Amino acid sequence: MLQDLVLLMQLQEIDLRIKEQELAQENFPVEVTQLEQEITKMKAALDHANEKLRKATAEKTTFEEQIQKAKDGLDKSQDRLNNIKTNREYDAVHAEIEAQKHMVNTAETRKKNIIEEIERLQEAVNEAQSMYEAAVSNNEPKIKELKEKITAIDSTIATIVKERDVLVPQIGKHILRPYDLIRKKRKNGKALSLINNNRNCSVCFKVLEPQLYNEIKRGLKLIICENCGSIMVWNGDYTSKS
Ligand SMILES: [Zn+2]
Repeated sequence: MLQDLVLLMQLQEIDLRIKEQELAQENFPVEVTQLEQEITKMKAALDHANEKLRKATAEKTTFEEQIQKAKDGLDKSQDRLNNIKTNREYDAVHAEIEAQKHMVNTAETRKKNIIEEIERLQEAVNEAQSMYEAAVSNNEPKIKELKEKITAIDSTIATIVKERDVLVPQIGKHILRPYDLIRKKRKNGKALSLINNNRNCSVCFKVLEPQLYNEIKRGLKLIICENCGSIMVWNGDYTSKS
């Protein structure tokens, strides 16, 4: 029995490594998605900022065209002033000139405002750009590493399973069977409770009676915690020799 229990501890260590890989197999793709989504989010923010800047720049062009058009009109009206024959005509051209001047002023003000807006939007684009670049340089190496790990998991598991296959035939069935039953029922895959000098079950922390504690230390039979159902194994050198 002693040897069986020692091997059982080795088996649990192997099984926990397999469990760890299986857990990684579930979690790594989730992590990859999160990291990729972070980059996508930053890219969307950058695109949005760029689009606002593009619209404002287009508006600036529109105002410039409006200014130019009004100025051309103004020039024509000024020319007409020189060929005026009647007062009525004079008043009409003057009204025209006033309207055109007003249009120029309005468009100039709008242009001035949009230029300030463009400066702000350009800063926002720069900020979004550097946040996007930071996300890419932070996350892409992590994504690459995780994807490599995901690819390697199957072969990692296969290697550990080979270790398991070597160990399992060396352990008695009477001990292997309860171990596997308990292990499969546990979400964390831990079937063993390793017992130390502090004299309680390391899984459920129930305090052990002295006699039970001594029996565990001797390691001559399979002892199961009556409280949590774990196989209790002495985590040290066994006191008996057999
Ligand atoms: Zn227990």
